[in-house]
Amino acid sequence: MPVGTVATVKGVPQGTLEELGVEILLANTYHLFLRPGTETIRKLGGLHRFMSWERSILTDSGGYQVFSLSDFRKVREEGVEFRSHLDGALHFLGPENATAAQIALGADIIMAFDECTEYPADRDHAAKSMEMTARWAGRCKKYFEEHKQEVPWGSAVGPRSSAVAGLAVANDKRPTTADQLLFGIVQGGMHADLRRESAERTVEIGFPGYAIGGLSVGEPRELTREMVEATLPHLPRDRPRHLMGVGTPEEIVEYTARGVDMMDCVLPTRAARHGLLYTSEGKLAIKNARFAQDEGPLDPRCGCRVCARYSRAYLRHLYSSGETLAAVLNTIHNLAFYLDTMRQVRQSIKLGDLEGFLSGVRSRSLNSSAQGEDPA
Ligand SMILES: [Zn+2]
Repeated sequence: MPVGTVATVKGVPQGTLEELGVEILLANTYHLFLRPGTETIRKLGGLHRFMSWERSILTDSGGYQVFSLSDFRKVREEGVEFRSHLDGALHFLGPENATAAQIALGADIIMAFDECTEYPADRDHAAKSMEMTARWAGRCKKYFEEHKQEVPWGSAVGPRSSAVAGLAVANDKRPTTADQLLFGIVQGGMHADLRRESAERTVEIGFPGYAIGGLSVGEPRELTREMVEATLPHLPRDRPRHLMGVGTPEEIVEYTARGVDMMDCVLPTRAARHGLLYTSEGKLAIKNARFAQDEGPLDPRCGCRVCARYSRAYLRHLYSSGETLAAVLNTIHNLAFYLDTMRQVRQSIKLGDLEGFLSGVRSRSLNSSAQGEDPA
């Protein structure tokens, strides 16, 4: 799912996201809590209506941003006191008010408030942090059960009904619930036994879906994969399993093959704004001088409106000139490429040939590295 941090996928209007086939977006509770304020959005009918997005939305709990963006924070059993990265003002987020904020936003899927364990963290610290996340998960669920009817679209048959339909259509099923869904989050640092324990404790509390958090926090990618593999077998197969903050096109295919159902990542949109484009021939930097006279499309195998209309030479010119349109067009293509990758994954699963698709992606990735086009 594309990331729409402050209720916008940077540079791309909602109508274009719909044309691209985006079914669900991620928005950040931390950012919306600080600006314009979750209460303001609740009064405006909730996030769907506020941002004019009738398809599904997932909000994270704010736990990750409190730990990654705020340079002052004090963690207590009640929650976290932190300074806003915008103006330095003191704020507090804990299991109860982070859940309240997400009920006010009214996303379809909301997340339990967790402590994102920093990397590196020794076992003792990671264990204490994981145990706190488990206690917080229980409090989030309790608060949610007592307050879920306060969602802005609670009794209305407004934008929400079609928002649910977005996800339901994707699954070829009618919506079975009018409630938001609260997911639990697994932590445990980079310790396989703690990951397992965290998964078991979170499942014991019981949620309709589970997220794997605390990864992609600076650890080597091999370690990310080890932790995902240590966690997945302990999460129920019949519930959605969301891997947070991952990854490259190759990685999202790899993780799907391992049993991950949902992922979100800023990579396609952030890389696009830096002129890094994912294509069927690997990753390329559009500023490269060899594109200056290149009349061909960005990716000859991509059917997106950018590849259908513009040349590499023009896209390079826009980027080199610092034009706003460069970020817009690059983002549209990268999102199209990611969404198309996932469409192919779903198709290959239906055909029973995910392994075949996976090996194609792996060899493409090797070729791309061999050409030196992957600066990451
Ligand atoms: Zn394209």
